[in-house]
Amino acid sequence: MDRKGIIFVVSAPSGAGKTSLCREVAKLVPNLQYSISYTTRSPRPGETHGKDYFFVDEATFRNMIDKNDFIEWAEVHGNLYGTSRELLMDWVNRGIDVVLDIDSQGAMTIKKKYNDGVYVYILPPSFEVLRQRLVDRKSDSADEISRRLQKAREEIWNYRQYYYLIVNSEFHKALKELEAVMIAERIKMKQMNLSWIEETFIKHLSKEI
Ligand code: 5GP
Repeated sequence: MDRKGIIFVVSAPSGAGKTSLCREVAKLVPNLQYSISYTTRSPRPGETHGKDYFFVDEATFRNMIDKNDFIEWAEVHGNLYGTSRELLMDWVNRGIDVVLDIDSQGAMTIKKKYNDGVYVYILPPSFEVLRQRLVDRKSDSADEISRRLQKAREEIWNYRQYYYLIVNSEFHKALKELEAVMIAERIKMKQMNLSWIEETFIKHLSKEI
């Protein structure tokens, strides 16, 4: 059925497992695209330009802000992150659902513009688990970890603005829940092109009678 793509916005404090969940769900659910953001942060080991992020320098990013290229952008942990308006709208207009793995500042900017988006918040089972995950990730310095934990406390304040809450204590359970949200949202009546039902069933019914 032809319809616009649904925008799924997923936020969580850093270390809650959000990126892995979003990437996995995009592999599981057909016709779902993971949105690749622009960032001024340096790539972590194993990250690739154009797959994990578009890694750009600050001048390039600021130039894109001036040209209104971002549908939303935010400063997170001292780096700039943004979602390309053109990429996102191209998928949505082609009827492809998109999952945005972005922080709550960006999520709230999108929410003001697109009330039809689906907002999902992911939490770790406890603050201690969050700290441990950031330490185990071994990709950030001690300073960076304490900055991320401080940001996590602020970030969690926004959870009430979201429509779904998933606690990631067990990855596969959380993944199933995220998949379930996406599948259920797709079959909501408001997402359907109802003219198909009218054509196939209702008109037919009146002819029979
Ligand atoms: P990381 O550096 O760990 O990949 O991401 C740091 C934070 O920035 C995460 O909360 C991530 O979701 C968020 N983020 C990634 N891309 C974007 C974006 O395009 N916009 C916004 N607002 N946040 C983003």
